[in-house]
Amino acid sequence: MKQSASAWVRPEILAIGAYHVADATGYIKLDAMESPYRLPASLAVELGRRLADVAINRYPDPSGAGLKDELKRAFGIPETAQVLLGNGSDEIITLISQALARPGASVVAPEPSFVMYKMNALFSGLDYVGVPLTADFRLDLPAMLDAIAAHQPAVVYLAYPNNPTGNRFERAEVEAIIEAAPGLVVVDEAYQAFADDSFMELAGSVDNLLVVRTLSKLGLAGIRLGYAAGSPGWIAELDKVRPPYNINVLTLAAARFALEHLAVFDEQAAALRAERARLAEALAGCAGVTVFPSEANFVTARVPDAPALFAALKQRGILIKTLHGSHPLLDHCLRFTVGSPDENRAVLAVLNDYFGH
Ligand SMILES: *Cc1c(COP(=O)(O)O)cnc(C)c1O
Repeated sequence: MKQSASAWVRPEILAIGAYHVADATGYIKLDAMESPYRLPASLAVELGRRLADVAINRYPDPSGAGLKDELKRAFGIPETAQVLLGNGSDEIITLISQALARPGASVVAPEPSFVMYKMNALFSGLDYVGVPLTADFRLDLPAMLDAIAAHQPAVVYLAYPNNPTGNRFERAEVEAIIEAAPGLVVVDEAYQAFADDSFMELAGSVDNLLVVRTLSKLGLAGIRLGYAAGSPGWIAELDKVRPPYNINVLTLAAARFALEHLAVFDEQAAALRAERARLAEALAGCAGVTVFPSEANFVTARVPDAPALFAALKQRGILIKTLHGSHPLLDHCLRFTVGSPDENRAVLAVLNDYFGH
């Protein structure tokens, strides 16, 4: 007799909900750390021509060799480091999890942080150990070191800066974790374009360090390209679990095109940093609001009543992300992606009315 899916699917998968992406149709979309900027029209036309030349009847170059060299040049990846490409950095996290999921192996990550570390641990059958951040979202270094000593994790994830809190951890504390960890340490620099520090210069020379980045937050979320830089030994093993054609030909071509015009994306990132400061300042001026320092393209703030402010923004056509209820440390916290000047003005107008100044 046939049995339903629930008879076959692993209980830990049955127990979770699907990753929920809110329907943003018709809203000013400030919930997912996307860049508000599209390609300038002249570049869009040129990209169209470039994509028209792509041989879509052929499988992509399985190694993505040309693109890796161009990434190295564009982003200061050391000569000694090797590069792994992923269908978004999400896929790189998946590959790491798959490669390391020996029976009994564990993952350590601070909490709250990027949810995919925990999700992928669950998908691959790794034990997940979450170590709470302090109340002001700093690393609890003694607790992290204790967890590392107790669990001997196969991998430690550190988002630098952290999502969803926006702050960047102390460099010396990250260094102490890299030093103490027996296994791989992933420094996830998804927000590097908006941050004041990076571990990239150590990729390839510190053996257990893997620096992971993405083009997504830079204005290219739709093409899905992430990359990791690390020592040859680690990259070679992770590369074995990578699907051979994981980066499609259109993404390869679009990414190469984008790297030729990196100045455009850098200017956009600079504009977003300036807008971030305006948004943070406006939020800080609202009664009862605590703004957390951000080195990302979003601002996280604790407000007196998160559901009410979320609803007020939504009612005026603005979709942000509520973090309230997702972790005890995120009580009444909201995450605002930094938008264009017009979008941010719309947010400020709602804040003005809501807080009544
Ligand atoms: C957005 C984000 C990613 C995922 O980026 P993709 O390359 O789009 O998959 C990875 N890590 C962190 C911390 C993020 O915030």
